[in-house]
Amino acid sequence: MFVHAGRYHAVKGTSFRLRTPPCTAMASRTHYDAVIVGAGPAGIFAALELVRRDGLSVLVVEKGPDIDKRVCPARTSGVCSDCQPCDVTCGWGGAGAFSDGKLTLSPQVGGWLSEFVDDDELGRLVDYVDGIWREYGAPDKVHGGRSKQAEDIRRQALVYGMTLVDSPVRHMGTERAAEILKRMRTDLEASVEVRTNASVARILTSDEADGARKATGVVCDDGSEYTADAVILAPGRQGAGWLVEECKRLGIALRNNPVDIGLRVEVPAVILEPLTSVLYESKLIYYSRTFDDPVRTFCMNPHGVVSLENYGDVITVNGHSYADDKTEYTNFALLVSTDFTEPFDDPITYGKSIARLANLLGEDILVQRLGDLLQGKRSTAERIERGTVQPTLTGATPGDLSFVLPYRHLRDILDMLEALEKLAPGVNARDTLLYGAEVKFYSARPTLDAGLRTEIRDLYAVGDGAGITRGLVQASASGVGAARSILDQARR
Ligand SMILES: Cc1cc2nc3c(=O)[nH]c(=O)nc-3n(C[C@H](O)[C@H](O)[C@H](O)COP(=O)(O)OP(=O)(O)OC[C@H]3O[C@@H](n4cnc5c(N)ncnc54)[C@H](O)[C@@H]3O)c2cc1C
Repeated sequence: MFVHAGRYHAVKGTSFRLRTPPCTAMASRTHYDAVIVGAGPAGIFAALELVRRDGLSVLVVEKGPDIDKRVCPARTSGVCSDCQPCDVTCGWGGAGAFSDGKLTLSPQVGGWLSEFVDDDELGRLVDYVDGIWREYGAPDKVHGGRSKQAEDIRRQALVYGMTLVDSPVRHMGTERAAEILKRMRTDLEASVEVRTNASVARILTSDEADGARKATGVVCDDGSEYTADAVILAPGRQGAGWLVEECKRLGIALRNNPVDIGLRVEVPAVILEPLTSVLYESKLIYYSRTFDDPVRTFCMNPHGVVSLENYGDVITVNGHSYADDKTEYTNFALLVSTDFTEPFDDPITYGKSIARLANLLGEDILVQRLGDLLQGKRSTAERIERGTVQPTLTGATPGDLSFVLPYRHLRDILDMLEALEKLAPGVNARDTLLYGAEVKFYSARPTLDAGLRTEIRDLYAVGDGAGITRGLVQASASGVGAARSILDQARR
């Protein structure tokens, strides 16, 4: 267990500012107490915890640029320039830097950490990381929860066969999320060494006298080597493929997660206002009429924009919203989870193959009016233009999503839209825009113990890349968890 009862709980008003380390941690060196691979929320929160508690020497290696240098051309052009690495997902702040910055405060949402800690401990850990996000500037306001209005929506959803998952949300907004991550960067500057634009190519290991294999550091793609007493891998979804290859090379057993496949839906914001004004994000689960598959709403962005996510070999669709710069539209994903059993064991390739079909048929992302999809015709720029919803992702290619998604997934999504229509009339309309493909690859998961250690001694794996989280809060919590395991180990 990596939560220390009574010791590390977030306390409202507690100052989380870092103390200055006892030695000159910024001095360039080649040996550290800990090396962290990846500067997303998981890596950053691991670093914050390590230096906050014990002032250990820590190196963070990040393959993307520093947060100030991250610029995504698609944000203005709507067309992906295929930057390598992708500025949306790589660099200080990770995929969290330009995310919608929704801190989902339910321990049941955003990952699988409940498989490692019990519910009470996970709740305390969520409170703890939420406290840190707030300390660095996340707003006090929490949307959702168990208000009378939320209960009314829950009851209505049940009437129409949908379950509303209790999921209070603190919304930072894209620009504020980036500012907060920048503040964390500034704060860590004095105590942690950071190498940006440096990709870790290999994990170093040695064979111990007792026969165990131990992590001893990392090698970057430019050949530079850093040794360390402990290594935390936090490479995010971007680095998931790399992590899988390293696990295979090191003989660490892997377990597959499901792959979520679907579309992003965009509607006039007023249509969803009855839900979003109360809940901000409504997490609804529905078992489809035709196939009895679970379909869920995901990542709802009131007054937001649809955006791109570049994985290097495929481009998928996503969405976010700014705290201040509001659009007239709301977007959200409808996702169908697929858990393959055997003999097929490569859900990531399956998901990528579907995303690749959209990339092949469009420039990268396809957009279609729901009415056109139902009538079996592709959308055209002209038809979309005369509709009531104008795409916020301007570079998407009007096309036909029935050539992209398998029938089963498409049918599931259409069934869910019909159900949603009863809760929020106007969602299942002719002009509703559908973007594809949205695919969530939940990375294969290395075997981990309760302290998030892999089968290699002193090697930890956290965050989305390790397949144990899928959101900012749980990713942050997993980083804290690994850091605490390292601190416990060091104290023994
Ligand atoms: C557009 C968008 C909107 C989102 N909105 C939300 C939201 O509102 N709420 C929410 O909870 N979640 C949201 N998410 C998801 C959230 O951003 C992730 O769950 C979270 O960032 C995962 O954190 P992480 O640290 O595990 O990985 P990441 O944030 O992906 O960070 C991993 C980092 O590791 C680096 N890296 C990878 N491989 C290597 C390597 N070999 N060497 C060195 N560095 C490496 C990457 O460059 C990256 O910076 C969103 C994601 C996107 C893309």
